[in-house]
Formats: sequence, C-alpha cells, structure tokens
Amino acid sequence: MNLPSDDHVHSRFSWDAVEGDLEGTCRRAVDLGLPAVSFTEHVDFEAWSAPPGGWAWPPGVRGTVDGHGRFLGAALEVEAYVAEVQRCRDLFPGLRIRTGVELDAGHRHPREVAELLRTGFDRVVGSIHALPDLDDAGGYLEVDAAYAQRAASDVVLGYLAEVRDLVASGTPFEVLGHVDYPLRHWPAGREVSWEVFEEPLRETLSALAASGRALEVNTSLPLDLRVVRWWREAGGGAVAFGSDAHSPGELARSFRAVAPLVEAAGFRPADDPTALWGRG
Ligand SMILES: [Zn+2]
Ligand SMILES: [Zn+2]
Repeated sequence: MNLPSDDHVHSRFSWDAVEGDLEGTCRRAVDLGLPAVSFTEHVDFEAWSAPPGGWAWPPGVRGTVDGHGRFLGAALEVEAYVAEVQRCRDLFPGLRIRTGVELDAGHRHPREVAELLRTGFDRVVGSIHALPDLDDAGGYLEVDAAYAQRAASDVVLGYLAEVRDLVASGTPFEVLGHVDYPLRHWPAGREVSWEVFEEPLRETLSALAASGRALEVNTSLPLDLRVVRWWREAGGGAVAFGSDAHSPGELARSFRAVAPLVEAAGFRPADDPTALWGRG
C-alpha cells in the first residue's frame, strides 16, 4: 500500500519544535515516498497557566511568560515560513508541500484567526490543547497539567466539550486535530474508560461530520481504531493522517501499520494521492 500524505507536521517555525527542520523533513518525505506533506505550524492565541511544578520547557522552546506566570508560545513568523516552504518546493519539485497552521482554540479568537488566515494557507488544522484553569478564573491549563485538577475521566470529558465548542463555531478549519490528545497524558497504569467516553465521543464526531470537516488520525499514540469506526458510523466523510512530527525522524510514524487498519475501518485513498482519504 502507498503511504498517505502526512498532513500534520511541525518545523522549527513552530515554537516548540526545537528539532524541527523543514528541508530535512521534505527530504525524508521523498525518501519515504510520501505524496505530500503539510506543515501545520502552531498558532496560539492564549497564554497557559504554569503547571504545578512550574515551567520546564526544553532549551530552544520559544515563548514569553507574563506577569502572572502564564506562558504564550511565540508567534508564527509567517513571511519567513512561507519563504522557506517556497525554497523547499524548488528543491523537491516531485513532492507536494502544503503550507498550513494548527490553530489552538480558534473559536475563542475569531478576529485574530480571520487576520491570520488572510495570508492563505493550504491546510488549516483546528485543535485544543488546554482546559479552563480551575484555580485561576479566565486562565487555561495545558491538558497534561489539567490532570492535577480533575479526575482523569473528567479531563477527557472536558476536552471533548471544548472540541464540540470549537466544531460548533464558524472557525474556518478543515481538519480536527488529535481528538484523543488528553490520552497522551493519561495516568500510567490505568485503563482508558472507553465505556465512559463512547457516547460523548460519538456526539463529538457527529457534530464534526455535520460540519463537513475531516477527522485526523493522529499517529502520535496512535488513534484508537474504534474512533475511526465511530467516525464512519457518524457519517464522517474524510480522514487525514497526521504524525504530529516535531522532527524529521517522526515523519509518517506508524503510517505503514495504521493505514491498512483505517482502510479496514471503511476509508480509502482518493484518486489524487495527495488528497484526504474518503469513505470506502
Ligand atoms: Zn496539537
Ligand atoms: Zn501538532
């Protein structure tokens, strides 16, 4: 089976991708035989409260901490980023290289989103990374740290509620990124309560399907195949594959194993190999 496009990749233009390398990622995409790669660089509009132990970002992460100790990832340098993509398009003419952004909580920042998207990006991923900070009204806490304030299942339920708000908004994004994001930080050694999550997940997927947007199969975990089947049952029309790579070596991670499973769950490649997969 030919590998699908990787439609969720970060380069050094994302504030946390300290090992990001746009040219190196493109070279690896060519080596792997990927038809296309989408650089969906982080765009964050709201600062996050400090986690219980304080900030401990690896060296090289770019952002600012305000007077309340809240961290905001550095803004995307749009002009330099687009110029670098163009340079790589010239270097790798056989590879479709898409510009893109991963908008965090775009539904709370419609004006900023509209302003940013005037640039015109080939792919817009919408996603959620933080939940309301229960100790600081109006603040947000990265999901990882939110487990210190809530029961584990409440983190996932709160996350899905945020996702539904995002989906219900008019935020112009095409693909919902990592619907399973809180499970990346699920407490070690504990079963994931799928029986608790099935109904709210199906509700979330139905709303997403009705909005005409696509679901991302994020292979960072990777996404549980039950969710892909529920997506099909909800009427979902398309899936995107996204490694969420923050370095060239993570590009298309697990795609070879996951793609046949997604096909078995009822989706298949389009005639255009660079396009999203549709219903089989
Ligand atoms: Zn993300
Ligand atoms: Zn990402």
